[in-house]
Amino acid sequence: MRYRNLGDTSLKVSVLGFGASPLGDVFGTTDPSEGFRAVHLAIDEGINFFDVSPYYGLTLAEERLGTALAGRRNEVILATKCGRYGESEFDFSAARITKSLEESLRRLHTDYVDLFQAHDVEFGRSQQIIEETIPAMRRLQEQGKARYIGITGYPLKVLIRIASAVAVDTILSYCRYNLLIDDMDTILIPFAQKHGIGVINASGMHMGVLTERGAPAWHPAPEQVREAARQAAAFCRSRGFDISELALRHCFDYPHVAGTLVGMSSKNHVRRNLSAFEEQADRHMVDQVRAILAPALNYVWPSGRPENHDAPR
Ligand code: NAD
Repeated sequence: MRYRNLGDTSLKVSVLGFGASPLGDVFGTTDPSEGFRAVHLAIDEGINFFDVSPYYGLTLAEERLGTALAGRRNEVILATKCGRYGESEFDFSAARITKSLEESLRRLHTDYVDLFQAHDVEFGRSQQIIEETIPAMRRLQEQGKARYIGITGYPLKVLIRIASAVAVDTILSYCRYNLLIDDMDTILIPFAQKHGIGVINASGMHMGVLTERGAPAWHPAPEQVREAARQAAAFCRSRGFDISELALRHCFDYPHVAGTLVGMSSKNHVRRNLSAFEEQADRHMVDQVRAILAPALNYVWPSGRPENHDAPR
């Protein structure tokens, strides 16, 4: 496993991070015992970064991850979130954030998390996030319940706007750097590097689009993106490999993020994703796949409050 510093924090995270949302059955029903085995295998193989949220499976993912980590809590860097509690249920108030962390700690069977993140800040009012949410999270940090604090979300500009107004340790950005899109590189990375903010990349397979199985029904990408991905997957298949392999290699090679979180709930996926480290991405193959994906590249969907949307390309 390779490890990188998470910005200016003291945390050194594995380049492949364990995204725990599938443990909450958000991509389909999973077998909890297999999920526990996936977590244990990941730790045994050196994956030390685990990311979850009360939102994933409406607390199911936290419950299951907490159970899986019994006796192994000290071997991992554990991140969870607050502020999002349902498809359209958000509460970024100081009171809810404070209670939320207590609830998460109970589900995760621990008395602190390494990283506490405001979840999908584009759905909140930026003024509240800046003046109320982040200060409340800092107070929890001072109490030793969270070692570092961060924000997560999809539109890049609101992440930058918030982090320019109030200091955060990390930013988690998803679906903005992978085979289908790379605008994180020009929009977010220069800002984060200037301020020593650790950047976590998430959804290296574009939340399932860049897989043989394809996107789940709830995925926000339009048909044009899904169709281009299907064609790219077929091309990869014809060359004897799986598109997810290339997608992950491409992300792991990207040096400007601390790591890439990949959603996993089976030992098979953990093993396959670890094998992506055996080689670098074949640049010629990446160029060919990106040529197939060309009609869908850098497509951005609206997310959150209208004032927080990134302008479409
Ligand atoms: P992803 O792109 O990692 O895709 C996950 C899907 O791919 C799941 O269905 C999983 O079973 C499947 N998969 C995993 N390995 C595979 C393989 N080798 N071959 C084929 N399929 C495979 O999307 P994700 O899970 O949404 O993102 C990863 C993690 O990042 C999440 O679990 C979460 O922790 C984090 N995340 C955070 C936010 C946020 O904070 N707003 C948003 C998105 C993701």
